[in-house]
Amino acid sequence: MIEPGATIGILGGGQLGRMIAVAAAQLGYHCHIYAPEPESASVAAEVALRYTQGDYDDTAALAAFAADCAVVTYEFENVAIGVLERLALDVVRPSVKALVTAQDRMNEKTFVTGLGGRPAPFAAVDSAADLAAAMARIGTPGILKTRRDGYDGKGQWRLMRPADADGLDLPAKPLIYEGFIDFFAEFSVIACRGGDGSVRFWDSAWNVHENGILATSTVPAPAEVLAQMPEARALAARVAEALDYVGVLTCEFFATGDGPVFNEMAPRVHNSGHWTIEGALTSQFENHVRAICGLPLGDTALAAKGVEMRNLIGAAANGWAAILADPASHLHLYGKAEAREGRKMGHVTRLIL
Ligand code: AMP
Repeated sequence: MIEPGATIGILGGGQLGRMIAVAAAQLGYHCHIYAPEPESASVAAEVALRYTQGDYDDTAALAAFAADCAVVTYEFENVAIGVLERLALDVVRPSVKALVTAQDRMNEKTFVTGLGGRPAPFAAVDSAADLAAAMARIGTPGILKTRRDGYDGKGQWRLMRPADADGLDLPAKPLIYEGFIDFFAEFSVIACRGGDGSVRFWDSAWNVHENGILATSTVPAPAEVLAQMPEARALAARVAEALDYVGVLTCEFFATGDGPVFNEMAPRVHNSGHWTIEGALTSQFENHVRAICGLPLGDTALAAKGVEMRNLIGAAANGWAAILADPASHLHLYGKAEAREGRKMGHVTRLIL
């Protein structure tokens, strides 16, 4: 057990790290953030005790950082694996194996298929010929995605008909082609697995995306989505078990007429779980800290009849005064200096009591 008073290292300096650090501080831990951007540009740094500005391939800086921390976690999955392998592996939670699996869309879909999950039909694409073969086998419409580093709909191309591939300037990166899933809703399963192997789930949120970015998460989800939760949860539990996972794990699903189709997983706290800060008895951030420190997990039950989380993207964050005028709304601003289009600036959680 890592006792309160110890230092938790977080790789990544964004809003997820910020909210992990706030939860860690509440439990009496200190946080040390490691990220490449200057300290003044890290929204996690301003709520943490220490900050190291370093590149993710700077072995000496990472070793010094790891030596200062009782445990190291990460707030985004695109950390280079080689880097983590250079740290003392037993202090990285969730495991490096979870990261290797989740940071490549081919790996995660293959892995989940092996556990009985059903992703969209998929094929690896490394050339125009691969793409033609994949489109012929899987059909159109489909989505071409970068296998790594994609988030918030970035690195994705929708191909509605075979001719859409003509003259497409393929990026020089490993890609994956997926069949388009006809879903009626999207939802996520957020689980937390403790060091003792116990698994808890939060209620699944119904997630609505706009322009590839999460717009709202609503709990409880509609009945048609709730009906698909047991199968989706069982898969998430198998994933967590197979990865010997410790911490919060998110699996995203499409709810279809044929049951839940696995979309992707994130080996970390997730935007679709931000509602748990006020809407659940224990938030995803607190339980993540509890899990990686070997503490007992807190209750994940709902703290209200219903909860709605809305992301504040770009200029929407300028409406904070109106949000505060509603006493049922909880405002979260991440402290980002510039409200660029498509940038997550904060979120608002509204409880229905
Ligand atoms: P992703 O980054 O893979 O989660 O994709 C972002 C969003 O694009 C998803 O939340 C869906 O709304 C949509 N999307 C991604 N893949 C598919 C698919 N195979 N079929 C239908 N919609 C998809």
